[in-house]
Amino acid sequence: MSYVFPPAPTPSVPVVGTEAQFPVHRIYCVGRNYAEHAREMGHDPDREPPFFFQKNPDNIVLDGHFPFPPLSTDVQFEVELVVALRSGGTNISAASVDDLVFGYGIGLDMTRRDLQGAAKKLGRPWETGKAFEASAPMSPLWATAVVGHPRSGAISLDVNGVRRQSGDLSQMIWDVPHLIANLSSLFELRAGDLVMTGTPAGVGAVARGDRMLGRVEGLGELAVEVV
Ligand code: MN
Repeated sequence: MSYVFPPAPTPSVPVVGTEAQFPVHRIYCVGRNYAEHAREMGHDPDREPPFFFQKNPDNIVLDGHFPFPPLSTDVQFEVELVVALRSGGTNISAASVDDLVFGYGIGLDMTRRDLQGAAKKLGRPWETGKAFEASAPMSPLWATAVVGHPRSGAISLDVNGVRRQSGDLSQMIWDVPHLIANLSSLFELRAGDLVMTGTPAGVGAVARGDRMLGRVEGLGELAVEVV
């Protein structure tokens, strides 16, 4: 077997404490998973089922530099807990989700809010707002053997040293087991899938030169400069 041109390398994320990389299959994201953020976006968080969109695996950036994307004047940060799966399946029960999790990290769901807003208004897909180049800055992953399964703990984002987003993992509307169980009813989950679990309130825009610092208690920091 040969290819008509060399295939692109598999996107991967470093794992804290090992030389081995986590190879990425897909990136799933959930919208409005913290009540305060749902309200700031103009929605009622009560009883709304989770909904999902995707980013592209090669949108991940690991070098701490987020290039300001074209065709937007409202590029916003969303700090999120990232769940990394070591195996998958369909119609997974919430009770068995933990067994499928390899580890956790910190991610930024960078968003061209103006393009996303225009798409929402027209009932169009969100790709241009969400799945653009370098739209997924990410920290290294921490294995569950080291950090367990964080269900509570502070999640925050500072820009230029000023706290902009803050919340607690326990404030998720759909916790990680129920979120991934629901996702597995829609898609066949696989080893290598990453799930970005939604963002707390306080999202806002960045400009070139801004320094973002995301934190999730127990998972270290993710420092990213807008370039
Ligand atoms: Mn998000």
